[in-house]
Amino acid sequence: MKEAVLYRKLEDKKVKCTACMQGCTIQPDYTGICGVRQNVDGKLYLLVYGKASAVNIDPIEKKPLFHFLPGSQIFSIGTVGCNFGCDFCQNWDLSQCTKDLKEKLLKENKIKDMGVKVCDYGYELLPERIIEICRQKGIPSVAYTYNEPTIFLEYAYDTAKLANKEGMKNVFVSNGFETEEALKKIKPYLDGINIDLKSFSDEFYRKTCKARLQPVLDTIKLAHKLGIWVEVTTLVIPTMNDSDEELKSIAKFIKSVDPNIPWHVTAFHPDYKMTDKQSTKHSSLEKAHRIGMETGLNYVYVGNVIDDVHSSTYCPNCKALLVKRSGHYISIESFKDGKCTKCGEKIPGVWK
Ligand code: SF4
Repeated sequence: MKEAVLYRKLEDKKVKCTACMQGCTIQPDYTGICGVRQNVDGKLYLLVYGKASAVNIDPIEKKPLFHFLPGSQIFSIGTVGCNFGCDFCQNWDLSQCTKDLKEKLLKENKIKDMGVKVCDYGYELLPERIIEICRQKGIPSVAYTYNEPTIFLEYAYDTAKLANKEGMKNVFVSNGFETEEALKKIKPYLDGINIDLKSFSDEFYRKTCKARLQPVLDTIKLAHKLGIWVEVTTLVIPTMNDSDEELKSIAKFIKSVDPNIPWHVTAFHPDYKMTDKQSTKHSSLEKAHRIGMETGLNYVYVGNVIDDVHSSTYCPNCKALLVKRSGHYISIESFKDGKCTKCGEKIPGVWK
């Protein structure tokens, strides 16, 4: 574990974590909502510094990022814990295990042990080692993903800084609940971010995710304003967020920030506490795709299903097929150096 950077000291050895918009005030021995930031004698520590719980080399399309070094591999790391508590979480075994542990230790009056116990979940993978592996394998970027990277920001920051020095790129896959301070801190080394916009209803965020909508909208705007490459993902859940009105509201919001922000509408499958819902029908994703395009977004993609037509990139000007996708397989068609080779239209993204 390592002392956190994003926090303030308060009276009576309490601390306030400033990494995310949950804004936890934490008493000595306790952790914040995420379960990985603990107050030890009036100082805040990141328990999972250098402790990865999930590591993979993924195609970048899996993040999903479609306008960012297409066809490249990305070294992907995550830890345990999360600042949200989504009932439909598809990585709940990683993200929610710290909450179960915290409850157990509270019952046993052993909350002080969180530090040791949380560290047991991960295995040592320090920033230097991550960069070494990437260099050896020729992997051009690192993703902080699987759980919310903001909660392990100090670990991500040190890794991203080293990666940047080596000429590599860094991306966050995030729920968008960063504080402005956290996003500005990582910004010099952050090249791309995929932000989940899970709904356009604050009630949905409060009830289903134990969070709020507005900070997520603010993060999307701020990340875009800071010049970080932004893509947005909505997991389309039957009867929860798939009405025409709600999908249209999301698309309108994205358009108001920038119609060139790619919007991924992806299929849900029953998981964690939401096993009573059906998997998303392909027709719902096609509907979301149509709504996004009709609203004026230039790039809308369906995900978690095989659908070459609705997951490929087309030139918004001449409609030429630029990048063809089938699952995570891609082929570059009428596209070179960030431009449509048929009409010369510049396609926004990070291409080299
Ligand atoms: S990162 Fe964790 S401890 Fe910090 S404010 Fe968010 S939930 Fe609370």
